[in-house]
Amino acid sequence: MKKNVIIILIDGARLDRVEKSKIFNILRSQSNYFRQTITPAPYTTAALHALFSGCYGYRTGTNSYWLSLNFQNNRFKSLVTYLKDDGFHTCGDGHSKLILANHGFDEFHVHDETNTDLVNHHSKLLENMAMQNKQGKNFLLYLTYSSIHTGIMNQVLKKYNNFSKEYFQNREKNEKVYDSLFQNAESYFEKIFALIQNLRLHENSIILVTSDHGISVGEKIGERAYGAFCYDYTIKTFAYYMSSDFEPKEIQEQVQHIDFMPTILDQLNIELDENFNSLDGVSLIPLINGKPFDEKIAYTETGNPLKSNSPPKKPNTKSVRMSKWKLIFNEYNNTKELYDLENDPDENNNLAGTGLKIEDLLFIELKKHDQN
Ligand SMILES: [Zn+2]
Repeated sequence: MKKNVIIILIDGARLDRVEKSKIFNILRSQSNYFRQTITPAPYTTAALHALFSGCYGYRTGTNSYWLSLNFQNNRFKSLVTYLKDDGFHTCGDGHSKLILANHGFDEFHVHDETNTDLVNHHSKLLENMAMQNKQGKNFLLYLTYSSIHTGIMNQVLKKYNNFSKEYFQNREKNEKVYDSLFQNAESYFEKIFALIQNLRLHENSIILVTSDHGISVGEKIGERAYGAFCYDYTIKTFAYYMSSDFEPKEIQEQVQHIDFMPTILDQLNIELDENFNSLDGVSLIPLINGKPFDEKIAYTETGNPLKSNSPPKKPNTKSVRMSKWKLIFNEYNNTKELYDLENDPDENNNLAGTGLKIEDLLFIELKKHDQN
């Protein structure tokens, strides 16, 4: 029998916090841990469409907040459909149907993000899947931990705008708000992970735990949470890929969310369907197995709302990233930012226009994605 697939999204979990977390570090010691996982879009809906389709949003039609229902499932085959066609039962859960509406789940639960006990709710779904599995049915279970997002919505998004002095002058307070939400996420995960082990699902499942994007604690004026900029505190996240087929290891190379769908298909020996468009992501199995792997340039795009109250219809802020360099293109005012990530990880020293050759090379790479 094939392995099942369990994907857990800790919506809005920051990389720096998981790396310091006792609970997540237990998972780290048991997984292939990707500590440089770049999101193609630093907001939930677009990041999830990319994670499940293995493709950038500008190709699948989902690269804006306004296009959540626009996933082109006649041209792109989602991980959900691949697994369903292979006989899996596919079950998803999230705080909104919009996050993965057109991906073809057999069952999709929408939880009330304010009032649901997610440990209880997700435990029932896990137990249900384990039961089906005992009866000989493989499953895909996708779970959203939405409470960091909900807390930020109530305590930051509704209280401040992207330029509120009161927010940006109180970084310590912002960190405290975030940390208390993160602690709740740890406690959720600890219980869910214990249940996965009690049900022995870690033995017969691929388990992917990731975050769609980080969240600002006040790093840069103009972004009080996420989705406005392409800086590392939101676009650089993490992924734990756990499977009894592989020895645990830490992977330093940059990878992208779009790589996990082809990785899962590769591990399950499911061939790509030629009736659909090709993928942007690549399988990470060679990297996991220590084979030579060329790090790809990661592309990210988002819609900066600027002074407006809602995001634009089309992305206006784009970046290309390597482990060492990042180029950001602010299309709305035609400016560029170039950062030496090795020496300036907080992206404070803009080197654009200083004559570095890498700027032109990266701009050519960025323009390759201009199919909007
Ligand atoms: Zn999110």
